[in-house]
Amino acid sequence: MSLLGEQVKAAGVVGCGGAGFPTHVKVGARAEYVIANGAECEPLLRVDQQLMIARADEVIAGLELMGEAVGASRLIIALKKKYQGAIDALRTEIARLHSRVELSLLGGYYPAGDEQVLVYDVTGRLVPEGGIPLDVGVVVDNVGTLINLYQASRGVPVTHRFLTVTGEVKNPVTLSVPVGAFVEDVIAAAGGTTVDEYEILDGGPIMGAFTSGYVSKKTTGLIVLPRDHKQVLYKQRSIEIDIKRAAWACDQCRACTDMCPRYLLGHRIEPHIIMRLVGQQRADAIPPEDLAKAYLCCQCGLCGMFACPTTISPDKVIAALVGAMKEKGVARTLLSDKFDPHPIREGRKIPVSRISRRIDVLRYDRDAPLKSEPLAVNRVRIPLHQNVGVPCQPMVKIGDRVEEGMMIGRPPEGSLGAPIHASISGVVEHIFDDSIFIRA
Ligand code: SF4
Ligand code: SF4
Repeated sequence: MSLLGEQVKAAGVVGCGGAGFPTHVKVGARAEYVIANGAECEPLLRVDQQLMIARADEVIAGLELMGEAVGASRLIIALKKKYQGAIDALRTEIARLHSRVELSLLGGYYPAGDEQVLVYDVTGRLVPEGGIPLDVGVVVDNVGTLINLYQASRGVPVTHRFLTVTGEVKNPVTLSVPVGAFVEDVIAAAGGTTVDEYEILDGGPIMGAFTSGYVSKKTTGLIVLPRDHKQVLYKQRSIEIDIKRAAWACDQCRACTDMCPRYLLGHRIEPHIIMRLVGQQRADAIPPEDLAKAYLCCQCGLCGMFACPTTISPDKVIAALVGAMKEKGVARTLLSDKFDPHPIREGRKIPVSRISRRIDVLRYDRDAPLKSEPLAVNRVRIPLHQNVGVPCQPMVKIGDRVEEGMMIGRPPEGSLGAPIHASISGVVEHIFDDSIFIRA
């Protein structure tokens, strides 16, 4: 492994756009392009667009380091045309540093930041079905990940992460938070909630999942929504009800398929067919090659939250199907690169404002200014598993004194994973099955 690979591995850098893939693995790849993903396509999130202003130099430095490591000839930051402040800041820094980094300006559609959509829109290359960007010579990293990579090259581990706190809070804010900070402490930093009955999403309002726990390296935002909000009810609805709805409410209009961003790239995912078969309770009779098409879903949620006129949930049904297939060991058999994008793909791109209105979050579309000072907390519960791959094993015991930045857990030798570090100085009070509790 290269020196940079070792540094990135030791610093515990993982994809911080929400995926959590260990970044040192990408550092060891060979690729023609590196794309810094600054699209930030979920509504309400304000992290990447502000980091590209406040820390433009570090985004560029991280991108150049990654580009050098993988031997890339093109280094591109992809961001939305409407992020004018970020565009200005990046252009100024690129000129000042005489950098070869280029900008690629995207429309304001959802999901512009989906890796495979991004690769096609920036390079014109189509990632094969069931493949990854590297299959077409591209490495994609979130802009925050590249800042962490740059910091890792200077010996600084990942102890904090930037996230947006918004929704039903008094003062929406974007700030740096110690990994493992309790969600309630972070919500308090945004002035507290404005409603008594609420749920909190970890991530954006579309793809986020309910949380009441603590922040991880993958937490892009905390969105507070009233308990009876449309999105809360959609996400809470049981899969049994979704399957029943597939049977009695799906009229096979195909809107879910026609708007699916992966179908529009030419992949053979057709949610309306999956819904037909599931509704007829024939999922067991689906030929394995058809069943495996569910693996082509990126869980963007467009089919259920925007396309379907009867608010059936193909995304949730497909997620359940994929979970069941993984348990049964059904292989990802689709690996085709013989396809073309749909001829009217451009016309079917969905503006973020339209999906925001549909899921009723436009009212929360407010500034969430970036705070320069990190949040100070007196307790953290640092998850042992924050990445694609295996969890960490603790390297500390109860009663140990730890300093911020000290490695406190690492994955077993030879396995895919990333170490974790103390995000505050203090004493290890508890070691749970899934986390390490430190009190300042
Ligand atoms: S969630 Fe729906 S729209 Fe998105 S990729 Fe999956 S099937 Fe397609
Ligand atoms: S959009 Fe809804 S009603 Fe139409 S085919 Fe898809 S799941 Fe059925």
